[in-house]
Amino acid sequence: MAVPKNRISKSRRDKRRTHYKLSIPGMSTCPKCGETKLPHRVCKSCGTYKDKGILEV
Ligand SMILES: [Zn+2]
Repeated sequence: MAVPKNRISKSRRDKRRTHYKLSIPGMSTCPKCGETKLPHRVCKSCGTYKDKGILEV
């Protein structure tokens, strides 16, 4: 079994964890209004998907 030879300092441990949450999973930004939306779905705030207006408000 692999056993760590040296204790990893709090600083190194916490630096490693900075990569844990860079972005919220399952979220993308709308290219038109910049609002966060679910990927592959119509934007709820401006009603577009792939430059096509689908929902008319
Ligand atoms: Zn939008």
